[in-house]
Amino acid sequence: MPELPEAEVVARQIRARLVGARLTGSWFGRPDIVREGYRDRNWYAGSVLRAVERFGKSVVLRLEHQEEIRYIVAELGMTGLLLFPAAQTRFPQHVHVRLTFTGGAESELRYWNPRRFGRISLFDQSGLERYLTRRFGCDPLTVTSEKFLTIIKERSGRLKALMMHQQAIAGIGNIYANEILFRARLHPDVRASRLPVAKVEELFRITREVLLEAISCGGSSVRDFFAPDGSEGRFKGRHLVYGKEGLPCPNGCGRVIRRLQSERSSFICPACQARTPRRQRTSSPAPKNNSDLERSLATA
Ligand SMILES: [Zn+2]
Repeated sequence: MPELPEAEVVARQIRARLVGARLTGSWFGRPDIVREGYRDRNWYAGSVLRAVERFGKSVVLRLEHQEEIRYIVAELGMTGLLLFPAAQTRFPQHVHVRLTFTGGAESELRYWNPRRFGRISLFDQSGLERYLTRRFGCDPLTVTSEKFLTIIKERSGRLKALMMHQQAIAGIGNIYANEILFRARLHPDVRASRLPVAKVEELFRITREVLLEAISCGGSSVRDFFAPDGSEGRFKGRHLVYGKEGLPCPNGCGRVIRRLQSERSSFICPACQARTPRRQRTSSPAPKNNSDLERSLATA
């Protein structure tokens, strides 16, 4: 947390309010939170914010100054937020970076993070490209279904770990992996490469649906996520399994949601997300009643 939908909501708000604005000043309060791929911090003063993009869970500000381009990359980590001033009054401490702007709908953008996971990085073009290549695999919202199929079928690892592996599929963390796998009726530990093609295609469709629906809801405010304007994400109200341990399965199968203690906690319905789908467990369906049983014994 935050994951792809939250980072996308952050990028969209900053884009709408600050693209075209001029950066008049910057303040970096904590040296250990800033990674300087590009060392001249003074370059940024006077530059114009030309674009705001999202890669995985990172938000990338593209700044232009006298036809040169530099970047500021914000990793939100576990608890990081990018906030406009009005929203930040709720979080008086732990502001580590302030970027001041003129000519936009906001006067400042602040990087808030009470924990040290998450960074602000400064990059030139080649530094950004190296960073993106090293950190991020395909984006689930722009990758083709063919490429997604290749990624899943080429890996022998467990499906949920693969879905959360940033260098394979960028942006999905524990919350959305749980929600996607429940909707796709897949067990987290199923081997990725063993999934039938049709099932991978369904997984691809559901992955996109869940992420796009979450973005349209402003993300999920689990623990401390807020958009730059201070608004909360409403997708938490649509979670079907994440944090729902002990509650009835939303599919109405009669079982309750269980929490598996793997490396990251998984929330599953043991019936709807059986590790081996029932029809594959035996070559023929189990006898339903005595007459079926008699018939199957008679033909054996
Ligand atoms: Zn169920």
